[in-house]
Amino acid sequence: MLKVEKVTKRYGKVVANNDISFEVEPGQIAVLLGPNGAGKSTIIKCIAGLLRFFGRVEIDGKDNKSLEAKRVLGYVPEIPAIYDLLTVSEHMEFIKRVYRLDDDGYEEELLKRFELWDKKDKLGKELSKGMQQKLSICCALLYKPKVIIFDEPMVGLDPHAIKQLKNMLLEFRERGKTILISTHMLDSVEDYWDVAHIMVEGSIKATKYNREGGDEKSLEELYFEITEGRVAEQ
Ligand code: ADP
Repeated sequence: MLKVEKVTKRYGKVVANNDISFEVEPGQIAVLLGPNGAGKSTIIKCIAGLLRFFGRVEIDGKDNKSLEAKRVLGYVPEIPAIYDLLTVSEHMEFIKRVYRLDDDGYEEELLKRFELWDKKDKLGKELSKGMQQKLSICCALLYKPKVIIFDEPMVGLDPHAIKQLKNMLLEFRERGKTILISTHMLDSVEDYWDVAHIMVEGSIKATKYNREGGDEKSLEELYFEITEGRVAEQ
């Protein structure tokens, strides 16, 4: 469970997040949509504990700054933070030591699914951008976090990796994990989101639940109504 309560974050005079509140339940995939500059990365970084902010974030019932919360939170940043001089295997080893993990075969499964198993001995700096992104995803998933937040996860991935990631997201939902994904690419989430929050200029302007049925507007229609409506008003 992820609970964001009245989060406000300012960079100088810029209000990047203005009183943001939402919850993501276990077994739910929530997406944050919005144009560039809407404040998606900022709220993700606040949740990940990388920024100071006003308000409160709870992860699995614990304040996000606590060790207990960090233990169960997986974070895939927009720009992969890879060590140049560690190999793919050494990245995995690092995570295993930090989280005191036993070898249960999950490392091999993850690396194989993301086509990194045969690149185990390559250094971080020898990997392509897409491979670094895949390694970053493997690092965040290896300790089997209950709550996983992804910042623009599909950017830079090849179609195979996108398919794998989507399948994994659906598996995680089945297993009751709490998932939050930020993206500006509407198509990339079209088929698997449960709840979508549309952000504009630091605020959530609309929330839509999937499978509402009836004559509801599609997510795409709602998105353009809100984001382009704003442009028209200016
Ligand atoms: P998004 O992820 O939706 O593209 P961001 O959260 O990156 O949006 O940015 C929200 C707003 O905060 C933008 O106006 C952006 O220029 C500003 N911003 C983001 N990071 C910083 C920073 N480190 N310093 C100053 N302003 C920032």
